[in-house]
Amino acid sequence: MTVERDYYEILGVVREADAAELKRAYRRLAMEHHPDRNPGDKDAETRFKEASEAYQVLSDPEKRGRYDRFGHAGLSGGAGQAGFSDLGDIFGAFSDIFGDMFGGGGRGSGGRGQARGADIETRVTLSLLEAATGATKEITIQRRVACSTCHGSGAAPGTQPETCQQCGGRGQVLHAQGFLRIATTCPVCRGQGKVIRRVCPTCEGAGVERQLDTLQVNIPAGVEDGSTLRLVGRGEAAPGGRPGNLYVVIAVEADPRFERDGVDLHTEVAISFPQAALGDRITVPILVAKSAEGAGATEDIELPAGTQPGDTVTLKGKGLPRVDGRGTGDLVAHIKVVVPTHLGAEEEAHLRAYAAAGGQRVNPEKAGFFKRKKKK
Ligand SMILES: [Zn+2]
Ligand SMILES: [Zn+2]
Repeated sequence: MTVERDYYEILGVVREADAAELKRAYRRLAMEHHPDRNPGDKDAETRFKEASEAYQVLSDPEKRGRYDRFGHAGLSGGAGQAGFSDLGDIFGAFSDIFGDMFGGGGRGSGGRGQARGADIETRVTLSLLEAATGATKEITIQRRVACSTCHGSGAAPGTQPETCQQCGGRGQVLHAQGFLRIATTCPVCRGQGKVIRRVCPTCEGAGVERQLDTLQVNIPAGVEDGSTLRLVGRGEAAPGGRPGNLYVVIAVEADPRFERDGVDLHTEVAISFPQAALGDRITVPILVAKSAEGAGATEDIELPAGTQPGDTVTLKGKGLPRVDGRGTGDLVAHIKVVVPTHLGAEEEAHLRAYAAAGGQRVNPEKAGFFKRKKKK
């Protein structure tokens, strides 16, 4: 399409506007008239295309120079040609702008010369255990799919869209203006190149219909919180173009027993001073048990005599698998030695005897004094 309005006027900027001002102005207009925000609104689409064409010319110093000197005539023909054949071209050309406008580089739409369906984003929450083992999650999304009656053609059953007589299917018509030939969007088919004589009663010619879809999504073992799965072609359908993608953003819930560090897990195990000094068989929580007993699984490990506070015991391969399948992380148990805050009389007596045997000084009897007195 090619417009005749003044490009500066379309963008609402002064002729001296610099690159940043142009970009800002275009962004604002593109947001306002973006087809995703104005579905089916032809007027918005026209404004969107107009603004895109104006920005395409004015953001290119060479084209802008020619436009400033010769107006629209300076751009027609050859490399100076302005305008886009369809929306896909616009998204492709300004992917940097649409990328940050709709989150995610190159997502919006793209592909040269063909419109692509919109992308859909959805969220799925996994427990840490599910992240470790992988999971199949059912998700429900609402999306536009090819119309079930006309299979996306937009034409009533038994009929086909016909090639537009006006433009011969090119979507553009040429007007002679002096010695110049100017291309404009075909008014009959609105640039589609095809016309529908009898529209499909289900979708009224749109070729798509809204549908609630339930999908089973296989989430690989080892996914991280915030990672995104891309399901190519599971986004919204576009008549005559490729469907968009479905992005599944994964949230992994925290597990109070573990701290995750990439593929490794860390946990804290409290033991008593005698256990630390003498050694013991202790129980460590683990995330994934062999027998798939799920949450609450444990494993016993042998703790040597003389274990110090802060010592760690590494359980090889008890972490999370790498998402690429190349190995598994470890589980690191951090040993915490708990000092009792309260001692029974007998316990205290033994502890004092222990200290005395080792020649160690301790506070004279005090803490247990009143307590023992009461007991007597
Ligand atoms: Zn239909
Ligand atoms: Zn036409």
